[in-house]
Parts: sequence; structure tokens; C-alpha cells
Amino acid sequence: MIILLLGAPGAGKGSISNILKEKYHFFHISTGEIFRKVINASTDIAKKLKSIMLSGGLIDDDTTNEIVKNELMELSNKNLNIVLDGYPRNINQANFLSKIVKVDYVFDILVDEQEIMKRITGRRTCPVCKSIYNIYYHKPQKEGVCDYDGSLLVQRNDDKEDVVVERFKTYLALNTPLVEYYKQQKIYYPIVNENLDKAIGEIKKIIG
Ligand code: AMP
Repeated sequence: MIILLLGAPGAGKGSISNILKEKYHFFHISTGEIFRKVINASTDIAKKLKSIMLSGGLIDDDTTNEIVKNELMELSNKNLNIVLDGYPRNINQANFLSKIVKVDYVFDILVDEQEIMKRITGRRTCPVCKSIYNIYYHKPQKEGVCDYDGSLLVQRNDDKEDVVVERFKTYLALNTPLVEYYKQQKIYYPIVNENLDKAIGEIKKIIG
């Protein structure tokens, strides 16, 4: 089964994917995660991708499609359940995806815009164990320090407020056509994510 998660940055696609992965054995593909790893290299392409990400824009479709295709080719032969998070972001990517796999369900994760700003700009991550905190909702016991291994928490560069505003604009411009595209295929399901357990419960009910 292949499911897609649409939604604004900070809507909770990553958290939902993690639960699907850990509790329900889905394989998780996040293009954002892949790109964040790629930009750590000291190559010219890494520098180019980094500057695009830090401007809140999208990586070009050819690069993105190629990365997703390689990941999917390896997995789809094994008949695994896969959750794609952050891809497709536009109709061009959606068309490309439809040529390589059959998508079963598309969940649009919806959250209020102000809530999103707090979720993203408040997010802090442990660089060692990858635990995620939030300075508003899920504080570590000691400010700025990971509860599990004592590492100093960091803020993702693309979670800074000015970048988030641009990422949100990019999302608004591209998401509506994508929603229409999947509505027409009758595989579109909006999920209000005010509460993570409830959102997962709804998704579970739909996929059975
Ligand atoms: P995300 O964590 O999904 O919000 O992605 C972080 C950043 O990675 C985005 O702001 C884009 O610059 C890039 N990115 C992630 N997924 C895609 C995609 N499907 N197409 C183009 N760029 C992407």
C-alpha cells in the first residue's frame, strides 16, 4: 500500500509518518529528510540545494523525482507499505509519481496557520538521538538540552521564522491544484490534526 501525506510545513506529517513507521511498520520516505542529509556534503550540488532550501523554495522537479524514483524502485518490488511525506509537492511531481506506482490513499493533514508557526519555529532537535522538542509544547527538562543524552538542542535552519514564511507561501501556491488532482481520483481524505492520536485513528479507520 502506498499512502501520501500532504499538508503545510509543520502540519505534523513527520510525526504521523513516525507513528505509521514504528507502530504499523510502514516504510517512510521523506524528501525533506533526504535533502537535509544531502546538503551536509561539501559538494557544489549540496551548496546549491542548501541555498534553495534556506530561501524556502523547492528543489527542481527533475532532481526530486529522480531521488524518489530510486527510493521507490528499491522498495516497491518488496510489496511494502510505504508512506511518502513531502512528495509530491506539485502536479508535475504527482504526474511523475503516477507513472511509477499506484497511490492508494492521500491524506491532507490540516492545521491552523498560527498553530503551525508555533509548531515549526518552536521545534528543536537533538543532533545525536534525533529526539524532537518544542519550546512551547514539549519542553526538555533543562532548557536547550536533550533529556536523553544531554546534547545541546538545535533549530533546523529552515525552521527559522523568515524561511518558514516563505515555505508556507510556496505551500499555499502549490497545494490547491494537488488537492483537486487527488479529489478527482477519489483517493483524497482531509485529516484535521488537532490531536495526533485522533488523526492517526482516522487514518487507521480509512486504510483498514
Ligand atoms: P519538508 O521537510 O518536507 O518541509 O522539506 C524541507 C525542504 O526540502 C523544502 O522546503 C524544499 O526546499 C525541499 N523539499 C522537500 N520535498 C520536496 C519536494 N517534493 N520537491 C521539492 N523540494 C522539496
